[in-house]
Amino acid sequence: MTTMMTDITGATELDALVVGAGFAGLYQLLCLRDRLGLSVKALEAGAGVGGTWYWNRYPGARCDSESHVYWYTFSPELMREWEWSERYPGQPEIMRYLNFVADRFDLKRDIQFNTRVVAAEYDEAANRWRVRTEAGETFVAKFLITAVGCLSTANVPKFEGLESFAGDWYHTGQWPHEGVDFTGKRVGMIGTGSTGIQAAPVIAASAEHLTVFQRTANYSVPARNAPLTSEFQGYIKENAAGIRAVTRETLNGMGFRIEERLAVETPAEEREAIYEAAWERGGLQFRAAFKDMMVDKAANDTAADFVKRKIRSIVKDPRTAAILSDIDHPYAAKRPPIDTNYFETYNRANVTLVDVKAAPIQRITPAGVCTTEAEYPLDIIVFATGFDAMTGPMLRMNIRGRDGVALQDVWDAGPRNYLGLQIAGFPNLFTITGPGSPSVLCNMPVAIEQHADWITDCIAHMRTKGLERIEARPEAVEKWVAEVNDVAGKTLLPLATHSWYLGANIPGKPRVFMPYAGGMVRYREICQDVVARGYEGFALA
Ligand code: NAP
Repeated sequence: MTTMMTDITGATELDALVVGAGFAGLYQLLCLRDRLGLSVKALEAGAGVGGTWYWNRYPGARCDSESHVYWYTFSPELMREWEWSERYPGQPEIMRYLNFVADRFDLKRDIQFNTRVVAAEYDEAANRWRVRTEAGETFVAKFLITAVGCLSTANVPKFEGLESFAGDWYHTGQWPHEGVDFTGKRVGMIGTGSTGIQAAPVIAASAEHLTVFQRTANYSVPARNAPLTSEFQGYIKENAAGIRAVTRETLNGMGFRIEERLAVETPAEEREAIYEAAWERGGLQFRAAFKDMMVDKAANDTAADFVKRKIRSIVKDPRTAAILSDIDHPYAAKRPPIDTNYFETYNRANVTLVDVKAAPIQRITPAGVCTTEAEYPLDIIVFATGFDAMTGPMLRMNIRGRDGVALQDVWDAGPRNYLGLQIAGFPNLFTITGPGSPSVLCNMPVAIEQHADWITDCIAHMRTKGLERIEARPEAVEKWVAEVNDVAGKTLLPLATHSWYLGANIPGKPRVFMPYAGGMVRYREICQDVVARGYEGFALA
Protein backbone atom coordinates (compact mmCIF):
# COMPACT_ATOMS: atom_id res chain seq x y z
CA MET A 1 0.00 0.00 0.00
CA THR A 2 1.26 3.47 -0.90
CA THR A 3 1.34 5.83 2.03
CA MET A 4 0.29 9.44 2.06
CA MET A 5 3.23 11.84 1.76
CA THR A 6 3.91 15.54 1.81
CA ASP A 7 6.00 17.03 -1.03
CA ILE A 8 8.51 19.87 -0.73
CA THR A 9 5.81 22.50 -1.26
CA GLY A 10 3.87 21.13 1.68
CA ALA A 11 1.23 19.53 -0.55
CA THR A 12 -0.23 16.19 0.47
CA GLU A 13 0.55 13.49 -2.11
CA LEU A 14 -1.92 10.71 -2.75
CA ASP A 15 -2.65 8.04 -5.30
CA ALA A 16 -6.21 9.28 -5.63
CA LEU A 17 -8.32 12.15 -4.42
CA VAL A 18 -12.11 11.94 -4.26
CA VAL A 19 -14.18 15.11 -4.09
CA GLY A 20 -17.41 14.65 -2.13
CA ALA A 21 -18.60 12.35 0.65
CA GLY A 22 -22.15 11.60 -0.33
CA PHE A 23 -23.34 8.23 -1.67
CA ALA A 24 -20.77 8.41 -4.49
CA GLY A 25 -17.75 9.69 -2.60
CA LEU A 26 -18.12 7.22 0.28
CA TYR A 27 -18.31 4.21 -2.00
CA GLN A 28 -15.49 5.38 -4.27
CA LEU A 29 -13.26 5.95 -1.24
CA LEU A 30 -14.03 2.47 0.04
CA CYS A 31 -13.32 0.86 -3.35
CA LEU A 32 -9.99 2.57 -3.90
CA ARG A 33 -8.73 2.30 -0.34
CA ASP A 34 -9.94 -1.15 0.72
CA ARG A 35 -10.06 -3.03 -2.58
CA LEU A 36 -7.04 -1.54 -4.35
CA GLY A 37 -5.02 -0.43 -1.33
CA LEU A 38 -4.41 3.06 -2.71
CA SER A 39 -3.57 6.07 -0.61
CA VAL A 40 -6.76 8.06 -1.02
CA LYS A 41 -8.59 10.86 0.68
CA ALA A 42 -12.01 12.40 0.20
CA LEU A 43 -12.53 16.13 0.54
CA GLU A 44 -16.00 17.22 1.57
CA ALA A 45 -17.39 20.76 1.83
CA GLY A 46 -19.92 19.78 4.51
CA ALA A 47 -19.15 19.08 8.14
CA GLY A 48 -20.37 15.51 7.76
CA VAL A 49 -21.08 12.77 5.22
CA GLY A 50 -24.30 12.75 3.21
CA GLY A 51 -23.82 14.97 0.16
CA THR A 52 -27.20 16.08 -1.13
CA TRP A 53 -28.86 14.75 2.04
CA TYR A 54 -26.47 16.72 4.22
CA TRP A 55 -27.59 19.99 2.63
CA ASN A 56 -31.25 19.33 1.76
CA ARG A 57 -32.81 19.42 5.22
CA TYR A 58 -35.91 21.34 4.17
CA PRO A 59 -39.25 20.38 5.73
CA GLY A 60 -40.60 17.21 4.14
CA ALA A 61 -37.27 16.18 2.54
CA ARG A 62 -37.66 12.55 1.64
CA CYS A 63 -36.36 10.30 -1.11
CA ASP A 64 -38.60 9.46 -4.06
CA SER A 65 -36.94 6.08 -4.58
CA GLU A 66 -38.28 3.39 -2.29
CA SER A 67 -36.03 2.61 0.64
CA HIS A 68 -35.38 -1.02 -0.27
CA VAL A 69 -33.68 0.12 -3.48
CA TYR A 70 -32.17 3.35 -2.22
CA TRP A 71 -29.02 1.98 -0.65
CA TYR A 72 -25.74 0.31 -1.40
CA THR A 73 -25.90 -3.25 -2.66
CA PHE A 74 -22.17 -4.05 -2.81
CA SER A 75 -22.27 -5.83 0.55
CA PRO A 76 -24.90 -8.49 1.34
CA GLU A 77 -23.95 -8.18 5.03
CA LEU A 78 -24.60 -4.45 4.99
CA MET A 79 -27.98 -5.06 3.35
CA ARG A 80 -28.89 -7.44 6.17
CA GLU A 81 -27.59 -5.18 8.94
CA TRP A 82 -29.55 -2.08 7.99
CA GLU A 83 -33.33 -1.81 8.39
CA TRP A 84 -35.43 0.94 6.81
CA SER A 85 -38.50 2.11 8.67
CA GLU A 86 -40.64 3.63 5.90
CA ARG A 87 -41.52 3.00 2.26
CA TYR A 88 -39.56 6.16 1.34
CA PRO A 89 -36.67 7.12 3.57
CA GLY A 90 -36.79 10.60 5.04
CA GLN A 91 -33.72 12.85 5.07
CA PRO A 92 -32.82 12.14 8.75
CA GLU A 93 -33.00 8.38 8.19
CA ILE A 94 -30.82 8.58 5.06
CA MET A 95 -28.29 10.58 7.07
CA ARG A 96 -28.32 7.90 9.76
CA TYR A 97 -27.79 5.25 7.08
CA LEU A 98 -24.85 7.02 5.44
CA ASN A 99 -23.21 7.63 8.82
CA PHE A 100 -23.76 3.97 9.65
CA VAL A 101 -22.03 2.95 6.42
CA ALA A 102 -19.18 5.43 6.93
CA ASP A 103 -18.60 4.14 10.47
CA ARG A 104 -19.00 0.47 9.60
CA PHE A 105 -16.28 0.72 6.95
CA ASP A 106 -14.21 3.21 8.94
CA LEU A 107 -14.33 5.75 6.15
CA LYS A 108 -14.35 9.01 8.14
CA ARG A 109 -10.66 8.79 9.00
CA ASP A 110 -9.92 9.40 5.31
CA ILE A 111 -12.42 12.17 4.77
CA GLN A 112 -11.46 15.77 5.36
CA PHE A 113 -14.66 17.69 6.16
CA ASN A 114 -15.31 21.44 5.90
CA THR A 115 -13.03 21.44 2.88
CA ARG A 116 -14.22 22.96 -0.36
CA VAL A 117 -12.21 22.45 -3.54
CA VAL A 118 -11.73 25.74 -5.36
CA ALA A 119 -9.25 24.72 -8.08
CA ALA A 120 -7.85 21.60 -9.72
CA GLU A 121 -5.12 21.65 -12.34
CA TYR A 122 -3.48 18.86 -14.28
CA ASP A 123 0.32 18.99 -14.34
CA GLU A 124 1.29 17.14 -17.49
CA ALA A 125 5.02 16.81 -16.77
CA ALA A 126 4.33 15.15 -13.42
CA ASN A 127 1.11 13.45 -14.56
CA ARG A 128 -0.53 14.65 -11.37
CA TRP A 129 -3.58 16.66 -10.38
CA ARG A 130 -2.91 19.59 -8.06
CA VAL A 131 -6.04 20.40 -6.11
CA ARG A 132 -6.45 23.52 -4.02
CA THR A 133 -8.96 24.06 -1.24
CA GLU A 134 -10.66 27.22 -0.02
CA ALA A 135 -8.41 27.19 3.05
CA GLY A 136 -5.33 27.20 0.79
CA GLU A 137 -4.26 23.57 1.23
CA THR A 138 -2.90 21.69 -1.77
CA PHE A 139 -3.33 18.02 -2.55
CA VAL A 140 -1.45 16.22 -5.31
CA ALA A 141 -2.90 13.02 -6.73
CA LYS A 142 -2.48 10.82 -9.78
CA PHE A 143 -6.22 10.22 -10.04
CA LEU A 144 -8.92 12.78 -9.37
CA ILE A 145 -12.47 11.53 -9.00
CA THR A 146 -15.34 13.97 -8.69
CA ALA A 147 -18.27 12.67 -6.67
CA VAL A 148 -19.88 16.07 -6.33
CA GLY A 149 -23.49 15.15 -7.07
CA CYS A 150 -25.78 16.45 -9.78
CA LEU A 151 -27.91 18.75 -7.66
CA SER A 152 -25.55 20.45 -5.27
CA THR A 153 -25.22 23.98 -6.65
CA ALA A 154 -28.22 25.89 -5.32
CA ASN A 155 -29.97 28.26 -7.71
CA VAL A 156 -31.25 31.43 -6.07
CA PRO A 157 -32.71 33.50 -8.92
CA LYS A 158 -31.29 36.98 -9.09
CA PHE A 159 -34.42 38.83 -8.03
CA GLU A 160 -33.92 42.55 -7.72
CA GLY A 161 -34.17 43.73 -4.11
CA LEU A 162 -33.54 40.39 -2.36
CA GLU A 163 -30.92 42.02 -0.15
CA SER A 164 -33.53 44.55 1.01
CA PHE A 165 -35.94 41.88 2.32
CA ALA A 166 -36.60 42.56 6.02
CA GLY A 167 -37.53 38.96 6.82
CA ASP A 168 -35.49 35.74 6.52
CA TRP A 169 -34.95 33.76 3.37
CA TYR A 170 -33.63 30.25 2.76
CA HIS A 171 -32.84 28.01 -0.20
CA THR A 172 -34.10 24.46 0.36
CA GLY A 173 -30.72 23.05 -0.68
CA GLN A 174 -28.87 25.05 1.99
CA TRP A 175 -31.30 24.58 4.84
CA PRO A 176 -30.20 25.58 8.38
CA HIS A 177 -29.33 22.57 10.51
CA GLU A 178 -31.28 23.94 13.44
CA GLY A 179 -34.44 24.07 11.30
CA VAL A 180 -36.80 26.98 10.72
CA ASP A 181 -39.78 27.76 12.93
CA PHE A 182 -42.74 28.80 10.77
CA THR A 183 -45.15 29.23 13.67
CA GLY A 184 -47.14 32.42 13.31
CA LYS A 185 -45.21 33.40 10.17
CA ARG A 186 -46.37 34.46 6.73
CA VAL A 187 -44.28 32.25 4.46
CA GLY A 188 -43.79 32.60 0.73
CA MET A 189 -42.42 29.65 -1.24
CA ILE A 190 -41.13 30.11 -4.79
CA GLY A 191 -40.97 26.95 -6.89
CA THR A 192 -43.09 23.86 -7.40
CA GLY A 193 -40.59 21.19 -8.43
CA SER A 194 -40.07 17.96 -6.44
CA THR A 195 -38.76 20.02 -3.52
CA GLY A 196 -41.53 22.60 -3.31
CA ILE A 197 -44.14 19.87 -3.71
CA GLN A 198 -42.66 18.00 -0.73
CA ALA A 199 -42.19 21.11 1.40
CA ALA A 200 -45.52 22.92 0.90
CA PRO A 201 -47.75 20.56 2.95
CA VAL A 202 -45.28 20.51 5.84
CA ILE A 203 -44.77 24.28 5.89
CA ALA A 204 -48.52 24.88 5.62
CA ALA A 205 -49.10 22.71 8.70
CA SER A 206 -47.23 25.13 10.96
CA ALA A 207 -47.18 28.52 9.19
CA GLU A 208 -49.79 31.16 9.78
CA HIS A 209 -50.09 31.47 6.03
CA LEU A 210 -48.30 29.92 3.05
CA THR A 211 -48.25 31.63 -0.33
CA VAL A 212 -46.93 29.41 -3.11
CA PHE A 213 -45.55 31.20 -6.17
CA GLN A 214 -45.93 28.83 -9.12
CA ARG A 215 -44.35 29.57 -12.49
CA THR A 216 -44.76 26.26 -14.34
CA ALA A 217 -47.57 23.97 -13.23
CA ASN A 218 -46.36 20.47 -12.41
CA TYR A 219 -47.68 16.94 -12.24
CA SER A 220 -47.47 14.98 -9.03
CA VAL A 221 -48.61 11.52 -8.02
CA PRO A 222 -49.25 10.46 -4.40
CA ALA A 223 -46.21 8.81 -2.84
CA ARG A 224 -48.34 6.75 -0.43
CA ASN A 225 -45.59 6.71 2.12
CA ALA A 226 -46.14 4.40 5.09
CA PRO A 227 -44.15 2.56 7.73
CA LEU A 228 -42.70 -0.71 6.43
CA THR A 229 -44.31 -3.79 7.89
CA SER A 230 -42.07 -6.26 9.70
CA GLU A 231 -43.02 -8.79 6.98
CA PHE A 232 -41.63 -6.50 4.29
CA GLN A 233 -38.54 -5.75 6.35
CA GLY A 234 -38.02 -9.51 6.65
CA TYR A 235 -38.58 -9.92 2.92
CA ILE A 236 -35.86 -7.34 2.20
CA LYS A 237 -33.36 -9.18 4.39
CA GLU A 238 -34.11 -12.54 2.84
CA ASN A 239 -34.15 -11.27 -0.72
CA ALA A 240 -31.23 -8.85 -0.72
CA ALA A 241 -29.54 -10.56 -3.67
CA GLY A 242 -32.79 -10.67 -5.65
CA ILE A 243 -33.48 -6.98 -5.03
CA ARG A 244 -29.98 -6.10 -6.18
CA ALA A 245 -30.48 -8.19 -9.31
CA VAL A 246 -33.78 -6.50 -10.18
CA THR A 247 -32.30 -3.01 -9.87
CA ARG A 248 -29.67 -4.08 -12.39
CA GLU A 249 -32.23 -5.32 -14.88
CA THR A 250 -34.64 -2.40 -14.89
CA LEU A 251 -34.44 0.61 -17.17
CA ASN A 252 -34.01 3.13 -14.35
CA GLY A 253 -32.38 1.04 -11.65
CA MET A 254 -35.67 0.90 -9.77
CA GLY A 255 -37.36 -2.06 -8.17
CA PHE A 256 -40.23 -2.13 -10.65
CA ARG A 257 -40.39 -3.05 -14.31
CA ILE A 258 -42.04 -1.02 -17.04
CA GLU A 259 -45.14 -2.82 -18.29
CA GLU A 260 -45.01 -4.19 -21.83
CA ARG A 261 -48.53 -2.99 -22.76
CA LEU A 262 -49.15 0.13 -24.87
CA ALA A 263 -51.45 2.92 -23.71
CA VAL A 264 -52.54 3.65 -27.27
CA GLU A 265 -53.67 0.06 -27.81
CA THR A 266 -55.45 -0.35 -24.49
CA PRO A 267 -59.23 0.34 -24.51
CA ALA A 268 -60.04 3.59 -22.70
CA GLU A 269 -61.95 1.99 -19.84
CA GLU A 270 -59.22 -0.54 -19.12
CA ARG A 271 -56.54 2.15 -19.37
CA GLU A 272 -58.40 4.29 -16.86
CA ALA A 273 -58.55 1.37 -14.43
CA ILE A 274 -54.80 0.81 -14.86
CA TYR A 275 -54.05 4.47 -14.11
CA GLU A 276 -56.42 4.39 -11.16
CA ALA A 277 -54.61 1.37 -9.70
CA ALA A 278 -51.23 3.02 -10.33
CA TRP A 279 -52.45 6.21 -8.61
CA GLU A 280 -53.58 4.17 -5.61
CA ARG A 281 -50.27 2.26 -5.46
CA GLY A 282 -48.46 5.59 -5.69
CA GLY A 283 -44.88 6.57 -6.37
CA LEU A 284 -42.63 6.87 -9.41
CA GLN A 285 -44.01 3.53 -10.56
CA PHE A 286 -46.90 5.48 -12.10
CA ARG A 287 -44.76 6.10 -15.18
CA ALA A 288 -44.24 2.35 -15.59
CA ALA A 289 -47.95 1.77 -16.30
CA PHE A 290 -47.42 1.68 -20.08
CA LYS A 291 -44.39 1.04 -22.23
CA ASP A 292 -45.12 3.85 -24.67
CA MET A 293 -45.64 6.60 -22.08
CA MET A 294 -42.25 8.26 -22.56
CA VAL A 295 -41.88 7.76 -26.30
CA ASP A 296 -45.31 8.40 -27.82
CA LYS A 297 -47.00 11.74 -27.22
CA ALA A 298 -50.47 10.26 -27.77
CA ALA A 299 -49.77 7.66 -25.07
CA ASN A 300 -48.37 10.28 -22.73
CA ASP A 301 -51.43 12.47 -23.26
CA THR A 302 -53.56 9.76 -21.65
CA ALA A 303 -51.41 9.82 -18.49
CA ALA A 304 -51.23 13.62 -18.49
CA ASP A 305 -54.98 13.89 -18.87
CA PHE A 306 -55.54 11.43 -16.00
CA VAL A 307 -53.31 13.37 -13.58
CA LYS A 308 -54.83 16.72 -14.58
CA ARG A 309 -58.31 15.35 -13.90
CA LYS A 310 -57.11 14.09 -10.51
CA ILE A 311 -55.78 17.56 -9.65
CA ARG A 312 -59.12 19.13 -10.56
CA SER A 313 -60.99 16.55 -8.50
CA ILE A 314 -58.82 17.15 -5.39
CA VAL A 315 -58.54 20.95 -5.39
CA LYS A 316 -61.86 22.52 -4.40
CA ASP A 317 -61.36 26.09 -5.59
CA PRO A 318 -61.89 25.95 -9.38
CA ARG A 319 -59.52 28.85 -10.12
CA THR A 320 -56.69 27.31 -8.07
CA ALA A 321 -57.40 23.91 -9.63
CA ALA A 322 -57.21 25.47 -13.10
CA ILE A 323 -53.82 27.09 -12.39
CA LEU A 324 -52.41 23.88 -10.90
CA SER A 325 -53.60 21.68 -13.76
CA ASP A 326 -52.61 24.00 -16.60
CA ILE A 327 -49.51 21.90 -17.29
CA ASP A 328 -47.65 22.57 -20.53
CA HIS A 329 -45.33 19.54 -20.87
CA PRO A 330 -45.72 15.77 -21.17
CA TYR A 331 -46.00 13.76 -17.96
CA ALA A 332 -42.52 12.89 -16.60
CA ALA A 333 -40.72 14.92 -19.30
CA LYS A 334 -39.54 16.94 -16.31
CA ARG A 335 -38.51 14.89 -13.29
CA PRO A 336 -41.92 13.73 -11.97
CA PRO A 337 -42.54 14.65 -8.33
CA ILE A 338 -44.40 12.43 -5.90
CA ASP A 339 -46.09 13.87 -2.85
CA THR A 340 -47.91 13.55 0.41
CA ASN A 341 -51.07 15.68 0.32
CA TYR A 342 -49.65 18.31 -2.01
CA PHE A 343 -52.76 19.19 -3.98
CA GLU A 344 -54.90 18.73 -0.83
CA THR A 345 -52.83 21.48 0.79
CA TYR A 346 -54.52 24.06 -1.46
CA ASN A 347 -57.83 23.25 0.26
CA ARG A 348 -56.47 24.68 3.50
CA ALA A 349 -57.67 28.14 4.51
CA ASN A 350 -54.09 29.26 5.19
CA VAL A 351 -52.69 28.47 1.71
CA THR A 352 -52.80 30.66 -1.40
CA LEU A 353 -51.49 29.91 -4.88
CA VAL A 354 -50.10 32.75 -6.99
CA ASP A 355 -49.67 32.25 -10.72
CA VAL A 356 -46.34 33.92 -11.49
CA LYS A 357 -46.46 32.81 -15.09
CA ALA A 358 -49.44 35.12 -15.62
CA ALA A 359 -47.99 37.86 -13.37
CA PRO A 360 -44.23 37.32 -12.97
CA ILE A 361 -42.25 38.22 -9.87
CA GLN A 362 -40.82 41.68 -10.49
CA ARG A 363 -38.74 42.14 -7.39
CA ILE A 364 -38.38 41.41 -3.71
CA THR A 365 -39.22 44.35 -1.48
CA PRO A 366 -38.44 44.87 2.22
CA ALA A 367 -41.99 43.64 2.89
CA GLY A 368 -42.18 40.61 0.63
CA VAL A 369 -42.60 39.47 -2.98
CA CYS A 370 -43.88 41.85 -5.61
CA THR A 371 -45.38 40.53 -8.84
CA THR A 372 -46.60 42.62 -11.76
CA GLU A 373 -50.03 42.50 -10.12
CA ALA A 374 -49.62 42.69 -6.35
CA GLU A 375 -47.27 42.78 -3.38
CA TYR A 376 -47.40 39.82 -0.96
CA PRO A 377 -46.21 40.71 2.56
CA LEU A 378 -44.06 37.92 4.03
CA ASP A 379 -41.92 37.10 7.06
CA ILE A 380 -40.02 34.23 5.41
CA ILE A 381 -39.23 33.40 1.77
CA VAL A 382 -38.37 29.81 0.87
CA PHE A 383 -36.57 29.39 -2.42
CA ALA A 384 -37.45 25.94 -3.74
CA THR A 385 -35.92 27.08 -7.01
CA GLY A 386 -33.67 24.14 -7.78
CA PHE A 387 -30.08 23.83 -8.83
CA ASP A 388 -27.54 24.61 -11.51
CA ALA A 389 -27.78 20.91 -12.19
CA MET A 390 -25.13 18.45 -13.38
CA THR A 391 -22.56 20.85 -14.82
CA GLY A 392 -22.78 23.46 -12.01
CA PRO A 393 -21.00 21.39 -9.34
CA MET A 394 -18.20 20.51 -11.78
CA LEU A 395 -17.67 23.98 -13.17
CA ARG A 396 -17.46 25.75 -9.85
CA MET A 397 -14.32 23.73 -8.99
CA ASN A 398 -12.30 25.60 -11.65
CA ILE A 399 -10.87 22.49 -13.23
CA ARG A 400 -8.03 22.94 -15.73
CA GLY A 401 -6.72 20.12 -17.88
CA ARG A 402 -3.74 19.80 -20.17
CA ASP A 403 -2.07 23.12 -21.10
CA GLY A 404 -4.19 24.94 -18.54
CA VAL A 405 -7.36 24.58 -20.62
CA ALA A 406 -10.40 25.39 -18.46
CA LEU A 407 -13.32 22.97 -18.26
CA GLN A 408 -15.49 26.09 -18.38
CA ASP A 409 -14.24 26.70 -21.94
CA VAL A 410 -14.45 23.06 -23.06
CA TRP A 411 -18.07 22.95 -21.85
CA ASP A 412 -18.91 26.41 -23.07
CA ALA A 413 -21.64 25.07 -25.37
CA GLY A 414 -22.70 22.24 -23.04
CA PRO A 415 -21.05 19.23 -21.39
CA ARG A 416 -18.80 17.10 -23.61
CA ASN A 417 -17.36 13.85 -22.35
CA TYR A 418 -17.08 10.16 -23.07
CA LEU A 419 -19.57 7.84 -21.34
CA GLY A 420 -20.06 10.58 -18.76
CA LEU A 421 -16.83 9.28 -17.25
CA GLN A 422 -13.96 11.21 -18.79
CA ILE A 423 -13.30 14.46 -20.60
CA ALA A 424 -10.80 14.73 -23.47
CA GLY A 425 -7.81 16.83 -22.36
CA PHE A 426 -8.34 15.97 -18.67
CA PRO A 427 -6.30 12.78 -18.13
CA ASN A 428 -6.91 10.64 -15.04
CA LEU A 429 -9.96 12.70 -14.10
CA PHE A 430 -13.11 10.61 -13.61
CA THR A 431 -16.59 11.98 -12.96
CA ILE A 432 -19.20 9.98 -11.08
CA THR A 433 -22.78 10.32 -12.39
CA GLY A 434 -22.04 13.48 -14.27
CA PRO A 435 -23.68 14.61 -17.52
CA GLY A 436 -23.58 12.04 -20.31
CA SER A 437 -24.45 9.19 -17.95
CA PRO A 438 -27.88 7.90 -16.79
CA SER A 439 -27.39 9.58 -13.38
CA VAL A 440 -30.51 11.59 -12.58
CA LEU A 441 -32.69 9.42 -14.83
CA CYS A 442 -31.71 6.42 -12.72
CA ASN A 443 -32.11 5.46 -9.10
CA MET A 444 -28.92 7.17 -7.93
CA PRO A 445 -27.24 4.48 -5.78
CA VAL A 446 -27.45 2.04 -8.70
CA ALA A 447 -25.84 4.52 -11.09
CA ILE A 448 -23.22 5.42 -8.47
CA GLU A 449 -22.17 1.83 -7.75
CA GLN A 450 -21.83 1.12 -11.48
CA HIS A 451 -19.62 4.17 -12.01
CA ALA A 452 -17.44 3.67 -8.92
CA ASP A 453 -16.97 -0.04 -9.78
CA TRP A 454 -16.05 0.83 -13.37
CA ILE A 455 -13.52 3.45 -12.24
CA THR A 456 -12.06 1.07 -9.66
CA ASP A 457 -11.68 -1.72 -12.22
CA CYS A 458 -10.12 0.72 -14.65
CA ILE A 459 -7.50 1.91 -12.15
CA ALA A 460 -6.82 -1.72 -11.14
CA HIS A 461 -6.30 -2.57 -14.81
CA MET A 462 -3.89 0.32 -15.21
CA ARG A 463 -1.86 -0.78 -12.20
CA THR A 464 -1.69 -4.36 -13.43
CA LYS A 465 -0.51 -3.23 -16.86
CA GLY A 466 1.84 -0.57 -15.51
CA LEU A 467 -0.14 2.22 -17.19
CA GLU A 468 0.05 5.75 -15.85
CA ARG A 469 -2.54 7.71 -17.78
CA ILE A 470 -6.02 7.31 -19.23
CA GLU A 471 -7.83 9.87 -21.25
CA ALA A 472 -10.94 9.98 -23.42
CA ARG A 473 -10.14 10.31 -27.12
CA PRO A 474 -11.68 13.41 -28.77
CA GLU A 475 -13.36 11.30 -31.48
CA ALA A 476 -14.96 9.08 -28.81
CA VAL A 477 -16.27 12.20 -27.07
CA GLU A 478 -17.66 13.44 -30.36
CA LYS A 479 -19.56 10.20 -30.92
CA TRP A 480 -20.80 9.94 -27.34
CA VAL A 481 -22.16 13.50 -27.27
CA ALA A 482 -24.05 12.71 -30.49
CA GLU A 483 -25.33 9.45 -28.98
CA VAL A 484 -26.59 11.19 -25.80
CA ASN A 485 -28.38 13.74 -27.93
CA ASP A 486 -29.78 11.15 -30.30
CA VAL A 487 -31.11 8.87 -27.55
CA ALA A 488 -32.83 11.78 -25.78
CA GLY A 489 -34.40 12.79 -29.08
CA LYS A 490 -36.14 9.41 -29.29
CA THR A 491 -38.02 10.15 -26.06
CA LEU A 492 -40.45 12.87 -25.02
CA LEU A 493 -37.96 14.25 -22.48
CA PRO A 494 -36.72 17.22 -24.56
CA LEU A 495 -40.33 18.40 -24.99
CA ALA A 496 -40.21 19.94 -21.51
CA THR A 497 -38.26 22.88 -22.86
CA HIS A 498 -37.89 24.57 -19.45
CA SER A 499 -36.49 21.55 -17.61
CA TRP A 500 -33.24 21.42 -15.67
CA TYR A 501 -32.35 18.27 -17.64
CA LEU A 502 -31.77 20.76 -20.49
CA GLY A 503 -30.17 23.44 -18.35
CA ALA A 504 -33.13 25.67 -19.17
CA ASN A 505 -33.74 26.69 -15.54
CA ILE A 506 -30.53 28.74 -15.42
CA PRO A 507 -30.51 31.93 -17.50
CA GLY A 508 -27.70 31.83 -20.08
CA LYS A 509 -26.88 28.13 -19.59
CA PRO A 510 -26.50 26.22 -22.88
CA ARG A 511 -29.56 24.13 -23.71
CA VAL A 512 -28.29 20.62 -24.07
CA PHE A 513 -30.03 17.49 -22.82
CA MET A 514 -27.49 16.39 -20.22
CA PRO A 515 -28.24 12.90 -18.86
CA TYR A 516 -28.02 9.75 -20.99
CA ALA A 517 -31.61 8.65 -21.63
CA GLY A 518 -30.95 5.20 -23.08
CA GLY A 519 -31.49 3.46 -19.74
CA MET A 520 -29.18 1.98 -17.15
CA VAL A 521 -29.15 -1.53 -18.64
CA ARG A 522 -27.98 -0.39 -22.04
CA TYR A 523 -25.50 2.04 -20.52
CA ARG A 524 -23.99 -0.68 -18.34
CA GLU A 525 -23.59 -2.90 -21.41
CA ILE A 526 -21.91 -0.10 -23.35
CA CYS A 527 -19.43 0.49 -20.50
CA GLN A 528 -18.70 -3.25 -20.26
CA ASP A 529 -18.24 -3.55 -24.04
CA VAL A 530 -15.81 -0.65 -24.03
CA VAL A 531 -13.67 -2.51 -21.47
CA ALA A 532 -13.96 -5.81 -23.36
CA ARG A 533 -12.60 -4.05 -26.46
CA GLY A 534 -9.53 -2.89 -24.54
CA TYR A 535 -10.91 0.41 -23.27
CA GLU A 536 -12.04 1.45 -26.71
CA GLY A 537 -12.26 5.22 -27.05
CA PHE A 538 -9.71 5.84 -24.32
CA ALA A 539 -6.01 6.55 -24.82
CA LEU A 540 -3.95 4.63 -22.25
CA ALA A 541 -0.28 5.38 -21.75
P1 NAP B 1 -36.67 22.18 -9.80
O1 NAP B 1 -37.29 20.93 -10.19
O2 NAP B 1 -35.70 22.80 -10.71
O3 NAP B 1 -37.85 23.19 -9.50
C1 NAP B 1 -37.58 24.54 -9.27
C2 NAP B 1 -38.87 25.30 -9.20
O4 NAP B 1 -38.56 26.67 -9.00
C3 NAP B 1 -39.67 25.22 -10.48
O5 NAP B 1 -41.03 25.21 -10.17
C4 NAP B 1 -39.28 26.51 -11.18
O6 NAP B 1 -40.21 26.96 -12.12
C5 NAP B 1 -39.19 27.44 -10.01
N1 NAP B 1 -38.38 28.61 -10.32
C6 NAP B 1 -37.05 28.63 -10.60
N2 NAP B 1 -36.66 29.89 -10.85
C7 NAP B 1 -37.76 30.67 -10.74
C8 NAP B 1 -38.02 32.05 -10.89
N3 NAP B 1 -37.04 32.89 -11.26
N4 NAP B 1 -39.28 32.50 -10.70
C9 NAP B 1 -40.26 31.65 -10.37
N5 NAP B 1 -40.09 30.33 -10.21
C10 NAP B 1 -38.86 29.85 -10.40
O7 NAP B 1 -35.94 22.06 -8.37
P2 NAP B 1 -36.25 21.08 -7.16
O8 NAP B 1 -37.71 21.06 -6.91
O9 NAP B 1 -35.34 21.45 -6.07
O10 NAP B 1 -35.88 19.67 -7.70
C11 NAP B 1 -34.66 19.46 -8.38
C12 NAP B 1 -34.42 17.99 -8.49
O11 NAP B 1 -33.93 17.50 -7.24
C13 NAP B 1 -35.64 17.16 -8.74
O12 NAP B 1 -36.06 17.20 -10.05
C14 NAP B 1 -35.16 15.80 -8.28
O13 NAP B 1 -34.37 15.18 -9.25
C15 NAP B 1 -34.34 16.16 -7.09
N6 NAP B 1 -35.16 16.05 -5.89
C16 NAP B 1 -35.41 14.80 -5.45
C17 NAP B 1 -36.20 14.64 -4.36
C18 NAP B 1 -36.48 13.28 -3.89
O14 NAP B 1 -36.01 12.27 -4.32
N7 NAP B 1 -37.34 13.21 -2.95
C19 NAP B 1 -36.73 15.72 -3.70
C20 NAP B 1 -36.45 16.98 -4.17
C21 NAP B 1 -35.66 17.13 -5.27
P3 NAP B 1 -40.06 26.55 -13.68
O15 NAP B 1 -40.48 25.12 -13.74
O16 NAP B 1 -40.95 27.48 -14.37
O17 NAP B 1 -38.61 26.74 -14.04
